[in-house]
Amino acid sequence: MNPIPPVERFTSSSGVDIYRLPMLLFPNDFSGHAFVLDGAGPLTLVDTGSGIGRSNDDLAAGFAQIGERFGKSIALSDIERIIITHGHIDHFGGLPFVKTHTEAPVGIHELDRRVLTNYEERVIVATKALGIFFDRAGIPNPQRDSLFSMYGFAKRHVTSIDVDFSIADEQILDGMEFIHTPGHCPGQVCIRLGDILLSADHVLSRTTPHQSPESITHYMGLDHYADSLRKLLRFDGIRLALGSHEDAIHDLYGRIHAIRASHNRKLDRIRRIMRENGAPMNVSQISAAMYPDVEGYHVLLAIEEAGAHVEYLYQHGHLAIANLREFEAEPNPAILYQLNQ
Ligand SMILES: [Zn+2]
Ligand SMILES: [Zn+2]
Repeated sequence: MNPIPPVERFTSSSGVDIYRLPMLLFPNDFSGHAFVLDGAGPLTLVDTGSGIGRSNDDLAAGFAQIGERFGKSIALSDIERIIITHGHIDHFGGLPFVKTHTEAPVGIHELDRRVLTNYEERVIVATKALGIFFDRAGIPNPQRDSLFSMYGFAKRHVTSIDVDFSIADEQILDGMEFIHTPGHCPGQVCIRLGDILLSADHVLSRTTPHQSPESITHYMGLDHYADSLRKLLRFDGIRLALGSHEDAIHDLYGRIHAIRASHNRKLDRIRRIMRENGAPMNVSQISAAMYPDVEGYHVLLAIEEAGAHVEYLYQHGHLAIANLREFEAEPNPAILYQLNQ
């Protein structure tokens, strides 16, 4: 098991001490952070880890380290407010554990609130939408079943949980400025504290955050994501961005441009694949051509990623449906796309 890095402290120009607590979120080496904000009103915890594997233990160890490394005694039971940056398990799955230590109110953006409060309903609705997406993407049957079982796996660990308040775009709360940045998740928020931005999963230092089509969940999809990247560019004076995964980002604006360029390359690649193929293609075929070597859970991620980019190209008039008559006549046939010349 890889050792996780130590807790780090960053101080914003507005005088908030931000403690970054590293955690192993999924047993397969996927790590990330929770943050403790000292100096932005009530002592605030941002995100809780996944609650899976050693995530809760890592979170507790992180609190102990704040005392050991920085001489500031902060316990989980001292937390007075909890903010969830978005409704993904690796960010809110630790809430039941955290709630055994504190009665602090929990807040999340309205668009993700129902994910927490009505989790079972959310999984049913999302699974249904994913099935329609798979049909339209042309996923063949044995693969369809295995993708569904992967999709359902992590979700079995979670049950619904109460939320106490909603966060709104542009809301300022005790010096925390919330910026709604949908795309990666409908209710994704970044939090600005003076010259530091908690960029959650919206901007990461190494990975281009995962995209999934808006046809599965409203307010996701590449169009919203690109809008939200542009939105962040309007906030100048951010010296440091701290993502929920990976490293600190010292050039947020440069990183945003690099992520935009990466998506443009993917869009170009799809057009090239389709041009070279000649015949119309479905999303499953495009995904296999883009990501020929992926395995396991990454197959699902690849199909969603390809689907989000194909959706974007279609929405922006670069693609047309080649089998419109069949699409009209059948319940959910695979959609064949062709390039609009
Ligand atoms: Zn996420
Ligand atoms: Zn995440």
